[in-house]
Amino acid sequence: MDHGSHTQKVATPAAPFGLRSGEGWRDLDLVGLEEILEGQRHNRASFAVTPTCFIPAPEAGGYPVPEAVVAQANQLSREDTVVLLPCNWRWLRRSSVPLLVEHIRSCRHPVALIVQADGDPLERDQAVEGLRQVCRSCPRVMLWRTDLAAFDAMAHGALGAAVGASAVLRHGVAPRPDNGGGGRRPYPVVLVRRLLRYHRVATLQDWFAHVDPWTCDCAVCKDAALVRFTDRESDVLAALQHSVCELYALHGELDTTLPGDERIGWWRQQLSDAREYYRLLATRTNVEVGFPKVLQAWTRHSPMALPSTEKYPAQRKSGPS
Ligand SMILES: [Zn+2]
Repeated sequence: MDHGSHTQKVATPAAPFGLRSGEGWRDLDLVGLEEILEGQRHNRASFAVTPTCFIPAPEAGGYPVPEAVVAQANQLSREDTVVLLPCNWRWLRRSSVPLLVEHIRSCRHPVALIVQADGDPLERDQAVEGLRQVCRSCPRVMLWRTDLAAFDAMAHGALGAAVGASAVLRHGVAPRPDNGGGGRRPYPVVLVRRLLRYHRVATLQDWFAHVDPWTCDCAVCKDAALVRFTDRESDVLAALQHSVCELYALHGELDTTLPGDERIGWWRQQLSDAREYYRLLATRTNVEVGFPKVLQAWTRHSPMALPSTEKYPAQRKSGPS
């Protein structure tokens, strides 16, 4: 369970973990942290997740925080815990990645990385490259609160990933006083597998206003058109079910490939197919839809893993999956 503490409070080296409860905010020492993790397991979670607060950019006060998170977590004598590292995207820049990798490698638990930015963090300068380097260099890292970047991460060696069920869960958000407040009216968003991208149904309706819309052959859609979802609650739910079906189908394909070059080759093929579909879409609908910046970045050559240092030897590729 992700308690979402990172959407509510900034972490400090003295208090990297905390939680909002009925009695208000509570900073967690090691005993408190144990108690929360134990509670998650007691509620039948398959593994516990640290309620880590938000880690700002290194130059914005975040520099000493990951070390404090890992140092405290390493004192836990548990084998069922994932350490959450909710970081500002600037940690993925060339100048900061080696340090981030060093901290993740030194953690004796698997690490779930959340990348925060206003908008898509992977559209930021050096972020795609940095994230690939983290995934290649840290065998026990997972990417959380993400979108199709889950597949780029896993193709590059991430242990796992979690795709958000709603747009606000597909990237990290910085703490704000009003976070966790009332929800906006839901509108349908679908994963368009051919385009490797989530789109609002309203956008698809614009594209296909004058031509036959694309259909989907997943178990939910059964060859129906993707433009059919309205903003009725039942349709928003069905749109989500469609997206989940498509994610699992894509994951099923990834899972048949061998980790390493074969998996990266499979992902590159998905990207090159998607590029063709973007072209096809533009031709067919007469709408100018460019190949998205992030997909473009994913087609580029990926960096090598960082060499492991004596101090923090790379973790063995084992543990929970
Ligand atoms: Zn479908």
